[in-house]
Amino acid sequence: MRRYRCIVCDNKFEADDKEKVYKCPKCRERFVELIDGAPVKGKQWGSKSFSVR
Ligand SMILES: [Zn+2]
Repeated sequence: MRRYRCIVCDNKFEADDKEKVYKCPKCRERFVELIDGAPVKGKQWGSKSFSVR
């Protein structure tokens, strides 16, 4: 399981590792942040592995 937090409405939710979470289930905004769990490589919230230019 991974835990996510919506930056817009501060809603925290969980999703399975296999599940690709792109938006908040509550407000449907796409600004979700991974707060717990293995980071998804190549995704926008994986800031540690995010290669900038
Ligand atoms: Zn939200």
